Amino acid sequence: MYLPRDSVMDTRPRLETFHISTYGCQMNLADSSTLASALLTRGYRRVEDETAADLIILNTCSVREKAEERVFGRLGELYQYKKTKPSVRVAVVGCMAQRLGGDLRERAPHVDYVLGTDRLFELPDVLEGIEGASPIMTAFGHENLDQIQPIKETPYSGFITISRGCDNYCTYCIVPYVRGKERAHSDQYIVDSVRKMADEGVVEITLLGQNVNSYRFNEIDFPRLLERVAVETPIKRIRFMTSHPKDLSRRLVDLMAEQPRILPHIHLPLQSGCDRVLSKMGRLYTLDHYLKIVEYIRRRLSYVALTTDLIVGFPTETEPEFEQTLAAVRTIQYDSAFMFRYSVRPGTTAARYDDDVPEEDKIRRLNTLIALQRDISYQQNQRELSQVRHSLVEGFSRRSESRLRARTEGNKTVLFAADDTIKPGDIVPIRVTAADAFTLHGELAEGMG
Ligand code: SAM
Ligand code: SF4
Repeated sequence: MYLPRDSVMDTRPRLETFHISTYGCQMNLADSSTLASALLTRGYRRVEDETAADLIILNTCSVREKAEERVFGRLGELYQYKKTKPSVRVAVVGCMAQRLGGDLRERAPHVDYVLGTDRLFELPDVLEGIEGASPIMTAFGHENLDQIQPIKETPYSGFITISRGCDNYCTYCIVPYVRGKERAHSDQYIVDSVRKMADEGVVEITLLGQNVNSYRFNEIDFPRLLERVAVETPIKRIRFMTSHPKDLSRRLVDLMAEQPRILPHIHLPLQSGCDRVLSKMGRLYTLDHYLKIVEYIRRRLSYVALTTDLIVGFPTETEPEFEQTLAAVRTIQYDSAFMFRYSVRPGTTAARYDDDVPEEDKIRRLNTLIALQRDISYQQNQRELSQVRHSLVEGFSRRSESRLRARTEGNKTVLFAADDTIKPGDIVPIRVTAADAFTLHGELAEGMG
């Protein structure tokens, strides 16, 4: 229940403004937006300049050690900052808060609030001293799924979290521990939310989940949900992520072939090209199964962008096994990939394995993989040349206001000459005229604008 701020007695200095920094994935961005709107609803003001904030919120990621170290680095700076401005309050929310709970304060005693992934939306209650709300909260089971509002990344693109948590327990991964068991929003809630956003001018929606393919609400599975969104709402473009290879069905691919509004991009994490490593990772598919999905996707969809996640240096991974990953990447020809070296996550199954691949081997393997993928991305982008890609305009290029930046159906950035008649939110046909490994360059396709 939300009470107006003024109705609560609070003897501490009145907080007016807040700033949120978000670390990690789209899911965290979505959570930050929901948290921001909860605070705005209660009368707090969001500021872009951290030094103007009475409350500094860090929404954190635990997926790799480096992500946590980055937050501790930031907390170190805030320790110094708080000496100069003692009234400022610091909240650590999300995955790291969930994982470390009160222990976080042992390393960072200046942190005022620690709220886990199920509790961060209660921050306004905590600030206002509402009964039952305390500065450190990490217990699961308090989440009200419907409180988690769909968010607009921009006035014309939005994200909807269709499910939270994960039941897969890949042996290296902290997500099931910090985000809890998988739970789904109802299909009706999702369809209504998409329709509402479309009515408000959103043209592109991304359906988010750790494993969207295992979505289930009563009788509704993910292809059926997507179909409802595509058929029953006026939204122009639909994306989804992330897909798990063990659950991606042919029905989903068939639906993508039938429904042009479902954009032809599939993020399908492979993690490793070696069956023994995949098994030890608990991924529950083989390379052969994965290749068969890719073959079906490419057969059914005339154009599709495939992207992936890969981990090198998983415990016991040998050099020949790493080479199997390189070979798989050569075979599959991804458009792009997120590549990581294995990082031990305390509490996971893999944390009990000997982290026996030396750090220098992990770094070398990662660099080799990145170089290979860069070449492949370049080649894949060359295949875009002279194709027309219907692209959603996002704004100006970061380097120049004479170029506009747009996102293709395959989720690639394309830059083209700015034109007064084109504005953010427009979907325009762009003919690709040049490409490097990371960006496409193009021009407005004549007669199609
Ligand atoms: N649910 C998605 C999935 O299954 O792919 C994304 C989960 S995670 C936030 C994103 C990626 O981080 C994973 O796909 C994996 O490649 C990587 N990752 C997760 N745990 C890791 C670890 N302990 N060390 C290195 N990379 C890790
Ligand atoms: Fe982590 Fe695996 Fe779940 Fe993805 S599917 S969030 S990698 S446990």
